[in-house]
Amino acid sequence: MGNILANAGSLWVAWIKGYALKGTAFWEANPKPQLSWILRKLLKLKNEAADLFGSVVDWNIVKSKWVWEKLRDKREKMAILNRLPTKDRLINMGMDLNGLCDLCNTELEDRDHLFNGCAFVSGIWRKILQTCRIPHRNLCWSDFLDWVANNFRGKSLLVSILKLAWISLVYFVWEERNFRRFRDCSRSVDNIFDSIRRSVGDRINGCNINKADSVNLKLCLEWNIG
Ligand SMILES: [Zn+2]
Repeated sequence: MGNILANAGSLWVAWIKGYALKGTAFWEANPKPQLSWILRKLLKLKNEAADLFGSVVDWNIVKSKWVWEKLRDKREKMAILNRLPTKDRLINMGMDLNGLCDLCNTELEDRDHLFNGCAFVSGIWRKILQTCRIPHRNLCWSDFLDWVANNFRGKSLLVSILKLAWISLVYFVWEERNFRRFRDCSRSVDNIFDSIRRSVGDRINGCNINKADSVNLKLCLEWNIG
């Protein structure tokens, strides 16, 4: 079992323990056939999710290598988010768990809810859009993907910020969900938005930006870009 934990982030260890082993240490786990089947499935999900986030360790600074670069022209590839082990998937695998979203505690957790429909997550996305002076609308997942396809085009500062902010949103939402579930701690919409703003600002700082453009200048002020 040792190699299972090699390179595993602490959240994943907590996650696997929480779901599959219910607090038992890996080493003590009784290797029942059903457990090892679930573990194999969990590890597959873990590896797939690792593909999504890459080998990024310090998310205070979003790395450009993020998989978004591979996704940019292929809307269908957003389906990669389906690979995350959301509760609907775990329940379909036969796990007995409470399927409610840990962020709002009102609806079932699946991909569409966690990254789009959840009121907590919408609150963060709304703040991101506000700082970009874009009105927020509640969209279903499919309409959201259309919106992304139309708006994440080109190389303007606005588009760079939107892309990085959305990538960060996905990361911080998944992290927050795991914090609440496994570490019994939580952050507010404002806290997470501040983290996103910092990570986007750090990533863009130092890039060559035309500040004679009034839109860019406002964005730099809002996003603390020097
Ligand atoms: Zn929710």
